[in-house]
Amino acid sequence: MPEVKVSNLSKQFGSNSVLRDVTFTIAEGEFFTLLGPSGCGKSTTLACIAGLERPTGGSITIGESTFADEGRFVPPEGRNLGMVFQSYALWPHMTVAQNLAMPLKIRKIDKRRQGPLIHDALDKVGLAELKERYPHQLSGGQQQRVALARALVYSPSVLLLDEPLSNLDAQLREQARAWLKRLQEELGITTVYVTHDQVEALALSDRIAVMSRGEMVQIGTPKEIYATPATAEVAAFVGRSN
Ligand code: ADP
Ligand code: MG
Repeated sequence: MPEVKVSNLSKQFGSNSVLRDVTFTIAEGEFFTLLGPSGCGKSTTLACIAGLERPTGGSITIGESTFADEGRFVPPEGRNLGMVFQSYALWPHMTVAQNLAMPLKIRKIDKRRQGPLIHDALDKVGLAELKERYPHQLSGGQQQRVALARALVYSPSVLLLDEPLSNLDAQLREQARAWLKRLQEELGITTVYVTHDQVEALALSDRIAVMSRGEMVQIGTPKEIYATPATAEVAAFVGRSN
């Protein structure tokens, strides 16, 4: 039973067809990366999984639940997915703890359970001691980890990450990559990761799905993608020229 199953996903914005028959399945606990150049449809794919965009065609199933297919559309709050997007904006007027409390309040989690859940989530990203700080009192890397903790605080079944490291400078990004990998290995949470950075994709992923102009071009392990690219375009994109 695949954890995430995306079948023949299509999306049109007006007459612009930005996803065409995108199909992939992700196993439970897998770190799965959508890789491709800017504009190829990665974020739209993720937004369809999240329920932020409604597919024009195809279906999306997570675990036992079909969230989208012909005639059916479950909104984001019915999907129990954790999300971190490129602009991981924390609420500036709230402390770290208050930022993490927000999704719990929205989900009407018992107030007495909120404290321990917030502590656990911050502990996972190594920031439990910074609970009372405000976002401006944190480094970019720390803010990024708080955003991740906020996505983890309600124990989502799947984590969706859209270029979460792109706001960090090169050195921080490398550190963040290392702890993200460690964290994912510890938690074993199914992760769909979006990036246009092939180095990041090769370093982090169990499998990579390469997209081009709204279509899926190749799916494989980093080794397979790097060693046997399906097309010249994939070869060029992963930094290998034959
Ligand atoms: P990527 O994340 O790979 O850079 P996107 O999924 O953001 O690509 O975008 C794919 C295509 O869909 C682009 O041409 C983009 O302009 C278009 N697009 C994305 N969102 C919208 C929208 N809400 N309305 C119209 N076009 C959109
Ligand atoms: Mg994008």
